[in-house]
Order: sequence, then structure tokens, then C-alpha cells
Amino acid sequence: MSSAFSSSNCKDVSCPEGETLADFKRAVMTPDAMEFEKLEAHCDGGDYLDPQDNGGKHYPVKREKADEYFYKCIDRVVRKFDEAVDAAGKLVVKNREGVYVTDPEQGLDYGTKQCVGKDNKPVSGNENRAKCKVINALGAEMHAVEDFYAHSNWSDKADPNKKIGVENPPGLEKGTELPGFLDVYQVSKEVGNGKRVEDVSKLPEKLSTGCWVYSGKDDPHKCDGRISERKTMQKDTAGDSRSKIDNGKNFANVLTAAGDDVFRQWKGFDKAVHDRYGKDKGDAIMKAVAKD
Ligand SMILES: [Zn+2]
Repeated sequence: MSSAFSSSNCKDVSCPEGETLADFKRAVMTPDAMEFEKLEAHCDGGDYLDPQDNGGKHYPVKREKADEYFYKCIDRVVRKFDEAVDAAGKLVVKNREGVYVTDPEQGLDYGTKQCVGKDNKPVSGNENRAKCKVINALGAEMHAVEDFYAHSNWSDKADPNKKIGVENPPGLEKGTELPGFLDVYQVSKEVGNGKRVEDVSKLPEKLSTGCWVYSGKDDPHKCDGRISERKTMQKDTAGDSRSKIDNGKNFANVLTAAGDDVFRQWKGFDKAVHDRYGKDKGDAIMKAVAKD
């Protein structure tokens, strides 16, 4: 799913605008175009059901194994965030008056160039510009964050009219609440201080995504007896079956949480840039990243 900056309130920080915003939205879609089968790019692979919710039977995947996939996703999100903060430092230079301005070699003239093309793939030749590095890295980061809500049971509710099980796993019912383990600004800070993602983030016991069969690559029976992402768990569109539960509230909550979290990530990026580069350079960087 993708909805970068759709429901954001950008009073306190400068959010992407104009051509930059359009470029950003394409960058958020890049993982679907380039890394469709990479589970951690979409926060996938962590399906799990407690035996008490599975008719007393053990689920084919262990809780620890499911957690591993979530941690891989969080780990990638942190690395992409850090990549963006690193690249941002190269985007501005001091001019002769000592004022920070966009380095023309590192910025982008949208009259002739863009970071991500209409096919949602990075435009070759531009990917080494600092502005594109920031946009590409944050796009990948935000994609996984949004997919977390669409592909897991964090926000949602199970169908109250059906028995709990593989075809109707419990929802964590967090609604529009944002988890601390995706507060990437904070997690990145702690990881920077030498902690592991696993130590920083405690995952809820019944957190789950769904299982996905990649045709031509996976055993077609891989997901037998497991929660299916496609048929059961996903809430990528309003038409997905789990989206419709609670009169569509499941989908509405996913959309709100994903949109709010994209804004949280952006604010975190703004804070991390200012922590690292200070007020003057940080302000110039944010302007160079967000405006055309
Ligand atoms: Zn995805």
C-alpha cells in the first residue's frame, strides 16, 4: 500500500511539496516494483497463531521464527532511515557568504530530472545525487512501515461472527495506535548506541502477518495450515475480506495509522537531521529535501 503524506499535518516541519512530493510517492512504491519477493521490504513473513487460537494445535511456525521476520523488517527500516540521514549531509554546501545552499550537483532540477520514474524504479544516473539517495531510502523505509499495518494484525479485529483460527486470526485491536518499535528515530538512536533491534523492541505475543506463496519460487503448499496473507490477512484495499470487518473500520484504521506513521517518520527524519547537522545546516537540508 502507499499513501505518503496524505493525511499529514505539516505545520511544524516542512513536508515534501510539488514535484518532490510526486517523486516521494513513487519512491514509496519502489519496493513493490523492485523487491516484490523480499519479505522484509514489506514487513512480511511473520505469520503465527497461538495454539489456543488454533484448536490446541501447534502452528507450523514458531513464535521466535515469526519474531525474526519482524526484527528483520525493523532492522531494514532503521538502516534505510540512517542511510537517508547520512546522505542528507551532502545535499547542502556553504556559499561565499557562509550561508548553506543546495549543492547543484547533489540536488535535482525537476525541469529535466526526477529520482524515480513512472515505473516506480529509480532513474539511472540520478541515484547517486544526495537528494535521490534521501528520497529513495526514505521511500523504502516508509513502504515497510505502511505495509506493517496493511499486512499484520496490529490494528485490526477478527471477524466476531466466525471462529478464531487460521482463517480468522485474532486481531491486536490497536486501532490507530502507533507501536514504539516503529518509532524509527528512537530505535535508530538506541541501535546507534550499540543496542540490537531485538533488545530495543518488545513485540506483542500475538502479532502476526500472513504467509505468501511466490508462484514459481515457493512450494505451492507452503502456506497449508497457515494464515494466508492474500486470502486472510491483507488489508491493502477496501475490498480485501479482512478490511471489511467491523463495517470497514479495519481498513479505515489501517489507512489512518499508516498515514500517521509516515508523518511520524518524517518528523523523526527532521529531528535526526537537526541532531546530526545542527540548526542552520539542518534547516537548509530540510528545505533542499522537501522543496523542488
Ligand atoms: Zn509492499
